[in-house]
Amino acid sequence: MKDYSSHIAIIGAGISGLTLGCVLKQSGMSVIIFEKSSTASEQGAGISISPNGLRVIRNIGIENELRSESGNPKEVQFFYNQNKLTSFPVDLVTTSRQCLYKNLLNKYLSLGGEVLFDHEVSSINLTDPSISFSNDSSFNVNHIAACDGIKSKCRSLIYKGAEQPFYSGYSVWRGILEKNQTENHIHLGPNFHIVTYPIDNTRTSFVAAVKNPKETKESWKTKGTYEGLCNDLPESTRHIYESLQDSNEIYKWGVYTKKIPDKLFDNNITFLGDAAHPMVPFLGQGGCMALEDAYIFGKLIKLNDSMKTSQIMYQKLRYKRVKKIYKDSALQGKLNHISNPLIVYCRNFLMKYTPVAALKPNSIWGYDPDVEIKKIS
Ligand SMILES: Cc1cc2nc3c(=O)[nH]c(=O)nc-3n(C[C@H](O)[C@H](O)[C@H](O)COP(=O)(O)OP(=O)(O)OC[C@H]3O[C@@H](n4cnc5c(N)ncnc54)[C@H](O)[C@@H]3O)c2cc1C
Repeated sequence: MKDYSSHIAIIGAGISGLTLGCVLKQSGMSVIIFEKSSTASEQGAGISISPNGLRVIRNIGIENELRSESGNPKEVQFFYNQNKLTSFPVDLVTTSRQCLYKNLLNKYLSLGGEVLFDHEVSSINLTDPSISFSNDSSFNVNHIAACDGIKSKCRSLIYKGAEQPFYSGYSVWRGILEKNQTENHIHLGPNFHIVTYPIDNTRTSFVAAVKNPKETKESWKTKGTYEGLCNDLPESTRHIYESLQDSNEIYKWGVYTKKIPDKLFDNNITFLGDAAHPMVPFLGQGGCMALEDAYIFGKLIKLNDSMKTSQIMYQKLRYKRVKKIYKDSALQGKLNHISNPLIVYCRNFLMKYTPVAALKPNSIWGYDPDVEIKKIS
């Protein structure tokens, strides 16, 4: 058993794990990250970071690097049947996951952070906190931060495997278009929607979500075909993605989710990001919630002498917000995919002639974690 009893152990070098690592190292705390893969994720898929997530990125000091390597759309445009419904100004950073992970990891390492790759959690002891890994190593630690994503092993060990992810009823196609686009485009249609945004100066992320009662595998790496993609979407949308025709990099996977537990912590373990609240991606907030969780939990640990107090404050600050966004994300999927022509007409009318489309995002994006921490401390 290796003695890391003064360290906070972070399970997972994803968005929440690396962010928490940066915040704790910046506060001078002892921390170690355990990651099951042999490198930080290299998936080429895109991710959009809205102003609430960007506040965290800015506070940990990687905003300039990330912006310089990413897309920075200043407008979101909504379409129905190729006709523009509405648009509103935004300040988003849209990037590849690879680029986000790289910047987070580099920052964490530059702060003297330690990551042990090829360490997959196999069991946990919460009383005298310790973790064992499938490579037969074990570590005594001070506290466990479970940042291990939607399939969280930590969560299934604590809740005895009772809560498996369930299929949301949506499948998602993704690919990278070799073109420069300056805005964020969202095409709505009956039982589907398509989102495209720049991930840098030459590439654009393409994601199409389709309602699909047939369960699809949950994996970023499952390949699909151009023919399959065409079959799932109406012909009128083909111009958006026809450059994928000769691409080998078309992926299709099922969107899964999980219930949010009543408590985001238990004894000596705290759950962050998708390990706590995996949501459907239709407001583009899962990663931003992971950033907010990690920033707030890290700051609370520095602020309080006792971990228990930090956990209680974390629950108070995060539970209501993540639960609301979890529900709103599911609702957004339904609104995007309306198929009844009369209701489509009403939705499109409201989007075209009122500012309704901007209300929800703007209400989410205004969240400032430092202000929230001040309110409670
Ligand atoms: C189609 C789609 C589009 C999305 N678009 C957006 C978007 O535009 N904006 C946005 O904010 N969010 C978006 N999201 C959501 C976002 O990707 C996730 O919410 C985010 O990645 C969660 O971060 P995390 O740190 O909780 O988990 P992850 O980033 O998944 O990291 C988990 C890490 O834990 C590791 N791990 C897992 N199990 C173990 C184990 N047993 N031992 C050790 N390590 C382990 C994994 O290898 C991984 O590195 C989208 C999601 C989907 C599906």
